[in-house]
Amino acid sequence: ARRKYVVGNWKMNGLRAGLGEAEAIFAAARDHAPVDVALCPPFTLIGAMAALGGTVGGQDCHAQDAGAFTGSVAAPMLADVGASLVIVGHSERRDGFGETNDDVKAKAEAALAAGLAVILCVGESRAVRESGGAIDHVLKQVRESLPDDFERAALAIAYEPIWAIGTGLVPTIEDVAAMHGSIRAALSERIGAGAAEVRLLYGGSVTGDNAADLLGAGDVDGALVGGASLSAAKFVPIIEAAA
Ligand code: 13P
Repeated sequence: ARRKYVVGNWKMNGLRAGLGEAEAIFAAARDHAPVDVALCPPFTLIGAMAALGGTVGGQDCHAQDAGAFTGSVAAPMLADVGASLVIVGHSERRDGFGETNDDVKAKAEAALAAGLAVILCVGESRAVRESGGAIDHVLKQVRESLPDDFERAALAIAYEPIWAIGTGLVPTIEDVAAMHGSIRAALSERIGAGAAEVRLLYGGSVTGDNAADLLGAGDVDGALVGGASLSAAKFVPIIEAAA
């Protein structure tokens, strides 16, 4: 059976003074052993957060292991400072930094080669959702950004509808279940029975109030949480809902 997975994406938030929140979150994680909990802070906090003893990840990595790429961070560097996972293909990278499915695939493959677990993000815009094309759009992203070969348990896919991120809007439980079921079916087409080992996370305005419903939807194995992961007071109830 797939273990529940609750991951906080701090985005561009967090200073060393805020590490106490991470400490409290990791303490709660230890109290809820059946749930896998991870935090993905900015690069600057990964080392210090990993030293607290929790599971820590990056929010992006470069597809190359080293080289003349000013401002970028490579997957082996994340592993070197204590990260064990990385998010790739977040919509804020796809839209804000022009990342394509090919780019995301290359990053995911680099991360896996560095021994990191990967959370691969997909999701549709409001216009695509309203046009009725959400499932087709997301399945195309999955098919084109999925690594050619990967250890099943090392990869998770996060479905994050762009219109639900930071807006307080969430899809209906039925729409979430339909999307996750479609992603699982596309994975089965690609990798067969191993699709049952890949965890599918929902992301977009997850809170302590809606987490139990969202985590109870078909084929939802966890949550990727932005705003509500920045404080233990808001994040711990989501961990509890997953337990
Ligand atoms: P919010 O939880 O703030 O809507 O952000 C979701 C997200 O983008 C997580 O990666």
